[in-house]
Amino acid sequence: MAERQKLAAGNWKMNGTSAELAEVAALAETHANAGCEILLCPPATLVERLAQKADGTAIAVGGQDCHWEESGAHTGDVSAGMLKDAGASFVILGHSERRADHGETDEVVRNKTKAAWAAGLTAIVCVGETLSEREASNTIDIIKGQLAGSLPTQATGLNLVVAYEPVWAIGTGKVPTTDQISEVHGVIRAQLEKRFGPGVGRSVRLLYGGSVKPGNAAEIFAVENVDGALVGGASLKAADFGGIIEALA
Ligand code: PGA
Repeated sequence: MAERQKLAAGNWKMNGTSAELAEVAALAETHANAGCEILLCPPATLVERLAQKADGTAIAVGGQDCHWEESGAHTGDVSAGMLKDAGASFVILGHSERRADHGETDEVVRNKTKAAWAAGLTAIVCVGETLSEREASNTIDIIKGQLAGSLPTQATGLNLVVAYEPVWAIGTGKVPTTDQISEVHGVIRAQLEKRFGPGVGRSVRLLYGGSVKPGNAAEIFAVENVDGALVGGASLKAADFGGIIEALA
């Protein structure tokens, strides 16, 4: 089986205006032959312009969310087809901030993932436990439940990436131990193999996300079944994100 290609994914969240696009050209130039896939997910307002800037470079572009319907009366929402039309090839779905701010359930995430696939996007589906769930020793059950509920049956190694993002590690500077990351990623891999078969299960890329920085990236990337990172804060500065790309490549 072909080796899983490493993926460094940046999630800008609700940050960035056209002024930040200038840094992207430099990032693309510095990491033109990075040896890993590089993805930036800016706010929806910048997807098209970033895609134009990144065209012909090693940088792919993604959205941070999409609606589960193709079109219609959903004020403020963006469909998967619109992201694709704007130049995106990926979309992040089920991020814990979406689950918390917008009440997204596993079922909603599953339907959004189907919509992403129908539009030809690769879905990065996020799962992760809260601090109280970890403290109650419920982490593994929570992850298994989120995977079972959030993933449709048609998964392949090309249309799906799973990101493990412990909620308590996002934007906090707290990072799980490498043993904790290894345990959860091992469970995710086993669940994917069980549900989708060994071929698909082994080909889906698993990202770790939550306070990844240039200083801790190498240690995290050395963990088995970590195929890259979903990076929030540190993806906003080209130098920081570049350091993470270097640790991965
Ligand atoms: P962080 O965010 O890197 O700022 O912790 C990660 C994420 O939410 O994807």
